[in-house]
Amino acid sequence: MKYLILSLLFIVSLDASCKIPKDIKPFIQQTDINQLKKHRDIRRNFNSLKNLCVNIVSIKEGKYNWKMLLVTNPKKPKGAFWFLPHDNENTAFDAGVYATQKYGGGFLAVMANDKRYFMGQDPNRNFGETKKTAKTCSKQKYPAPKYSKTVFKIIDSYKNPQYPYMSLHNNKNGHRGNGGSGGVSILKSSKIVQSFPAFKNITKSNRGLKDEDTLIYIAGFAKKPNQTKLNRLLSLGLNTKYEIIDKNNNDCSLSNYVVLNKKTTNYYNIETQHGDLKTQKNMIDKIMGLIK
Ligand SMILES: [Zn+2]
Repeated sequence: MKYLILSLLFIVSLDASCKIPKDIKPFIQQTDINQLKKHRDIRRNFNSLKNLCVNIVSIKEGKYNWKMLLVTNPKKPKGAFWFLPHDNENTAFDAGVYATQKYGGGFLAVMANDKRYFMGQDPNRNFGETKKTAKTCSKQKYPAPKYSKTVFKIIDSYKNPQYPYMSLHNNKNGHRGNGGSGGVSILKSSKIVQSFPAFKNITKSNRGLKDEDTLIYIAGFAKKPNQTKLNRLLSLGLNTKYEIIDKNNNDCSLSNYVVLNKKTTNYYNIETQHGDLKTQKNMIDKIMGLIK
């Protein structure tokens, strides 16, 4: 009998922690994971996701009917939280599952049929609330107050308040194309996005910490990154890019919104080349080690 009560209590407590916080409930469609098997991200991670909470977020704004997967950890609902704007970046999704199991919290991943854009809009250029931002941000088609506010409401519901805002991305080999199309490299630098390689011998291979495509982004208003923070990242072997944020240069990406609207520079974006899951997990561990 004692056993039965204990196991009942256990089941109830597990279920209770998949509970959706009240103020984000209107945006959640509670979902059975078996109904989501048509999505490749779900199929690839099915066994791990079975032990996590998986729900669909729905945000209707203008002509867009955004769908996002919200994955959270029932044993530790408050923890690290990640935003994954690009549905074609599959390694980032797998890394998000790993991080959620290991560090609690969870992640929010935009669903766009495995594509980078959704109905012509880059999800990571849609963080702007007014007509003015849509004008300043060349890649934001329409103002998106509901999108911006809801995404951050969800992030703030699960993120430990001490933890940074974080995102996960993958990019293509090399540095052809601009950052916006997924071709970033630590070997490329500009006035606004400065590069600080952690190694003298950056490689052009396809994986590992020394690869030119392996990097983290930090951001702030200052003309130079905080030296202590930068040194710490470089000593961990993390190639670092520093983005200078300016409201007149706003691109409506997550980093710009965090610095301009959430008024903090506590932000990390972890990037590897497509397919380099091992390195992305390694970088997650390094960043989590740093912020604990
Ligand atoms: Zn991306």
